[in-house]
Amino acid sequence: KFLAHKDAVEPRIQAFLSDNRQFALEAAAAVDKKISAGENIADLAGIPGAIKDNICIKGQQATCASKMLEHFKSPYNAAIIDKLMAADYVSLGKTNMDEFAMGSSTENSAFQITHNPWHADYVPGGSSGGSAAAVAANECVWALGSDTGGSIRQPAAYCGVVGIKPTYGLVSRYGLIAFASSLDQIGSFTHDVEDCAIVLNTITGHDVKDSTSIPQEPKDYKKSLVNDVMGMKIGIPKEFFGEGLDEACRKSLEEAMETYKQLGAEIVSVSMPHIKYGIAAYYIIAPAEASSNLARYDGVGFGLRVEGKDIVDMYQKTRSQGFGPEVRRRILLGTYVLSSGYYDAYYLRAMKVRTLIKQDYDEALKQCDILLTPTAPDTAFKIGQNDDNPLAMYLGDVCTVTLNLAGLPGISIPCGYKNGLPVGMQLIGKALDEETLLRAAYTFE
Ligand code: GLN
Repeated sequence: KFLAHKDAVEPRIQAFLSDNRQFALEAAAAVDKKISAGENIADLAGIPGAIKDNICIKGQQATCASKMLEHFKSPYNAAIIDKLMAADYVSLGKTNMDEFAMGSSTENSAFQITHNPWHADYVPGGSSGGSAAAVAANECVWALGSDTGGSIRQPAAYCGVVGIKPTYGLVSRYGLIAFASSLDQIGSFTHDVEDCAIVLNTITGHDVKDSTSIPQEPKDYKKSLVNDVMGMKIGIPKEFFGEGLDEACRKSLEEAMETYKQLGAEIVSVSMPHIKYGIAAYYIIAPAEASSNLARYDGVGFGLRVEGKDIVDMYQKTRSQGFGPEVRRRILLGTYVLSSGYYDAYYLRAMKVRTLIKQDYDEALKQCDILLTPTAPDTAFKIGQNDDNPLAMYLGDVCTVTLNLAGLPGISIPCGYKNGLPVGMQLIGKALDEETLLRAAYTFE
């Protein structure tokens, strides 16, 4: 049923970069067999999903939507893929994204433009736009993405689905192709919070192969699906509700606050004075790490190689033909802020600001259980709108990037519509307190 629906809508949506139906049908048949044999199956077993194309699956493509990795096949599984296999997962294919996860619209893919299922002239958001659109268009039930500065939450908001970025370190990054390692985190897209808990149960857990993975006992996030926020303190950081916020979105969020109040939650106002430096700090730290992580694409180890007259010429040709304009921009920016003489002025300062932002969150979350903010300042924008204005695109990340700088969990859930396009609400939790986030989100939907 899902394959037929996918075939019908995919020419319009263009969410997928690969088609995995052979594997999907075999995996589903294996689950059927287990069921007929009376065996226990996992919650996720046989349920059609999709995987962002920067997550490695042995023997399959992992292009990162880049010409650099167009013909690359992963020799190993990401740690989460092993976990998904143990749960008898079914994936219909790898999904489109901004090249190397750099962008907020999925327009930076080297291969295709993904369309927002609510209106084909609009972007699905990004960088995990393929995964968000695939779920929103009902091509699959769940999908995985990665979130470095909002790449799960923002496309979830634009496409009207649930998207979670767990606490940094809760999900192993082993086998996630690195963009900015201190910010990257894998998470999920689903239609509702219950499905979100099920995917989270499957992909979380300590992994010795990721040194930043947090050692802790696995939790059952389904236990957080409690329809009750009585007495919960919800903080509203006023800095997220300033001038740049669209009025219709503001109204939807205020209605959501009212709903929470009626359900017995207490709404408190909090202040986070350093949030305004979030975009500046993020767009120094993320490119700095990216410039280092992407140094490996040199035409030697793997990926594209364009021959040249000597080795330097080969490097130059490979890297200028393999990377698209946004990735090149980030590498240049990152190399600049890390170079001697500029390191102290840019990178080091950005890292100090990162600490101040983290402290703002620590202070704010002492006064409440979770924070409520917009996921983005507005609903989805038109395809092509920001083509000549990368800065406008960066500024749109203002509500999401600071969570990654602080390592905190965030979930985006739909809270309204503006001109037929979904509005997203972001809930932010304390580190490793996904339970409270899920409970608040579940009660709201
Ligand atoms: N839009 C942000 C960026 O371009 C975040 C991307 C992401 O989370 N991968 O860097």
